[in-house]
This record gives sequence, structure tokens and C-alpha cells, in this order.
Amino acid sequence: MDNNKNSIKKENRILYITLILSLLVFVIAITMLITYFNNLMVEHDQYLSGEICTLVSEKMNNYINSLTDRSKKIAVTLSAQDYSSLDEVYEKLASDDDVREQYAGIGFVDEDENIYATEEEKVDFDRWDLLDYTHTAENVTMSMPYRSNIYGKTVSTVFVKINYSQGKDGWFFITYLFEDLQEIAKTNSSITDLEIWLMNADSANIIQCVSTDEHAVGSWTNAYLRMQNLTDEGSKATYMNWIQQLREGVDNMGINYTIGYDSYSQYCDKIESAKDWYVVVRIPNKALSSTVSQFRDQVIRFTILLLIIVVVIILTMYILNRRENDMLEKISLHDALTGLLNRRAFSVSSAEWLKSGKYKALCFIDIDNFKDVNDKLGHEKGDELLKTFSSILSDNLGDKAEIFRYGGDEFLAMIAIEDSDDIDQILKESLNCVHNIKLSGFSDEPGKHMSFSAGLAQYPSDAEDIDELIRCADRALYSIKEAGRDGYRWYKDL
Ligand code: GH3
Ligand code: MG
Repeated sequence: MDNNKNSIKKENRILYITLILSLLVFVIAITMLITYFNNLMVEHDQYLSGEICTLVSEKMNNYINSLTDRSKKIAVTLSAQDYSSLDEVYEKLASDDDVREQYAGIGFVDEDENIYATEEEKVDFDRWDLLDYTHTAENVTMSMPYRSNIYGKTVSTVFVKINYSQGKDGWFFITYLFEDLQEIAKTNSSITDLEIWLMNADSANIIQCVSTDEHAVGSWTNAYLRMQNLTDEGSKATYMNWIQQLREGVDNMGINYTIGYDSYSQYCDKIESAKDWYVVVRIPNKALSSTVSQFRDQVIRFTILLLIIVVVIILTMYILNRRENDMLEKISLHDALTGLLNRRAFSVSSAEWLKSGKYKALCFIDIDNFKDVNDKLGHEKGDELLKTFSSILSDNLGDKAEIFRYGGDEFLAMIAIEDSDDIDQILKESLNCVHNIKLSGFSDEPGKHMSFSAGLAQYPSDAEDIDELIRCADRALYSIKEAGRDGYRWYKDL
């Protein structure tokens, strides 16, 4: 029976270990799946954002080229007409409403560096050293974007060489609003969080063309300054190398880096008409995969919920199983009628308990003439008496003994009291209590009362093993029964 119980427990343990291991395998598998999914997403985002960056920067470059081409065409026409004085043609152009509407600014620089422009435009020339472009440039050149005094907006001026007055070299210029460039970028992409800059490789200066922050548009910053946002060392190195490559004149170079938890793809494309200038496009990778990442987050949430449910189920199973086991154990070790430990419990634990050295005496108790109670009052009354008797024993011996119903009207008590006089005292009190049990039809005759007989053996002086100890106590009990019952006797006194 005991072996059965242990094997049930063992089987349960195997079941729980299997469940927990399966759960662990499940968690590992899900983690691996999500990691794989994440990597796949990052790879896909990087690829896609690289593609988009390329497209956007190409489009931007095309637009810039179209601006310079337009300026070149006008310049060719002007050169062909070979004006003797630029005053004349400037007057004509400046008074043309169509021209004024089309361009933010238009004018000339003659051989002697006289500027043919409005007074405000001349202030811009002075302030932004625009004449320098005529010194350094080839046939066509585009100025750095600058904040114009006239419009309060960012503009860029395209200079094209012209011939006038039979062989004189001059410059024709058109100023374009930078906003147009932004519009191009905007119409090109439905992607939010896209950023477009123009970057000068030499100075690493950046001008923001498109940004999520409207106020940032047209503002200046520096690539090295931007790099400070990068917390990840690997990303920092990648970014640094990228700037270096740009300074060395590399074209069409894409990189990926992370800022905090967000990763970005960045791509550069050289502007042909502006020396050292690049169109730079940057996309946060999450902008591309927000739907997919939402799906991934749902999967994670669902998995966590599933795990919680499974853990709760396992815990509930465990608690219920434990309760069941406790109940089974209680049923198998306790006497159903009296609630005392039963004979089985005695055989399971008595030897161990005895070895613990806590218990000093074994008391064998048998109710006197119990058969008569059954015969006269019936079995039910007998049962009731057994219960009353058990509670008297429990009350008197309290927590100083383990009491067992050994069978029928026999009880065993393992007593943890050192002094035998104290045990005597308790037994006397118990007898008194039993004498006072009222059983109408049995103990109401004068001089007749309920009683018990008990035999006591001492451990280890009388016997050192439990069977021998029982035998000693039984012999003492027998002797008191012989002597007329209603009392107790120590084995050592036989
Ligand atoms: P003695 O003084 O010599 O012990 O006499 P006795 O009549 O008590 O004799 P014995 O101890 O041998 O009898 C025990 C009786 O207890 C026998 C049986 O009918 C009765 N008995 C055993 N188990 C139960 C039980 O669970 N309920 C009831 N009502 N009676 C039981
Ligand atoms: Mg008896």
C-alpha cells in the first residue's frame, strides 16, 4: 500500500517534470521563432529601405539636374543673342512677370563682377559669398542652399556661364526655392518618417530638406553632430566610415545603423552640378514593417497569454492533485470512525518514531467488556462510545502522545513523557473520565461504570524494538485484565 502511494507520487512528479520541460521547449521554440522573424524583418526592411532611398535620391538628383538644365538652356539662348550690355537683358527679364513668377530670383554677374539683381538679392550675394561660385565653378554650378534674405526661406542659386558682347564671359543665375525640392521628395513617397538631407562631404554640413519635424526643414546641422545620437559603437563606426567615404568621393553608398531601439537605412547619391554635395535619404526601418511588427507583437501577446493559461492550468492541476493526495493519505492513515491514526499508520511510522528517541513509553489500552455494550445497547451505541473514548484519550494525552486505534476496542499510545509518575497521573485522570461516561441501560446500575485496562512498556529499558515493546505492553495489559480490569500496569512491575 505504501509502495503504491510512493509510485503514484513518483508518476505525478514525472508528469509535472514532463509538463514543465514541454513548456520550456515551447518557450525556447517561440523565442527562436520570434528572433528568426525579427531578423527576417530587419533584413527585409534594410533591403526595402535601401531600394526606396535609392529611388528617392535618384529622383531628387534628376530634379536638381532638371533645374540646372533649364538654367543652361536659357543661358545658351542668351549667349546666342550676344547682348552688348547685360543691363538691357536684365531689364527685360526682370520686368517679365512670367519669369518673376517662375523663379525666386534671376540675374547676371558680368565680367567685372557687377551683379545685376535686386538690392535684396545683392545683400544675399554679399552675405552668402555667392560670387565665389562663379570663381570655382565650371560651366554650371549650384550654390549651397542658403536662407534667403528676401523670402525668409531656403533657396539655392544655379550659375551658368554665358557669353555676351562678343567674347566677354559672364554668369547668368536663377534662384530656386528649396521648397520645390521638398515637394518632389514628398510626392515620391508615401512613407512617413522619411528624411532627406543635402550634405556637403567636405564640411560634413547637412541641410534638412524633408523631415518629420516641419520646423527642422531648411535647418543646418552637421553629420558629426548627428553621429553623437548613435549609442551603439558598431553603428557609430559604420556612420564614421560612411562620412569618410563621402569625403573621398564615393557615390551611391548605403548604410544601416541603430539609434536606441530603432534601426535606420541611409543612402547617399552625388549631386552632379554641386561639387561635394550629396542627396542623403534616411528611413527608419520600422516605417516599412509597422504592419508586420504589429502582427509580431500580437503573436508575442498571444503566446504570453497562452503561457499564462498553461502555467495556471499546471498550477491548478498540481494544487488539486496535492489536495487529493493529502486526502488519500489522510484516508489511508486515519480511522474513519474515531479520526485517530489507524493500525496502518502505526506500522508505517512507529519504528521510525521510536528511533527518533522522542517517545519513552508504549501504552496498550483495551476497553473493558465492550462486547456487552454492543450486545445490550447495539452496535451504534458501541460506535458512539468508541468516539467518546477516543476523545477522552486525546484530551488527556494531548500533544504528548500519538494515539492509534489498533483495532476494535484496542488502542495504542506512544507517549513522549520521560517521567513515569506523570504517565501514571494521566492514566488515572483518563480512567476517572471514562468512569464518568453515562450510558443509560448499562452504567446506570449502582456500582457499574465504563472502564478500560492498560499495559505499559518502557523504551528502551523493556524492549528496543517495536514488536517486542508491543508484546511487553500486551502482557502487562493481559495481567491487569486477569486482575479484574479497570486499571493499568507497567511491564516492569509484573
Ligand atoms: P475484555 O474486557 O476482555 O476486553 O472484553 P470485551 O468484551 O471488550 O472483549 P473484546 O475486547 O475481545 O471485544 C471487542 C469487541 O469490540 C468485539 C467487537 O464486537 C467489538 N467491536 C470491534 N470493532 C467494533 C466497532 O467498530 N464498533 C463496535 N460497535 N464494536 C466493535
Ligand atoms: Mg475489550
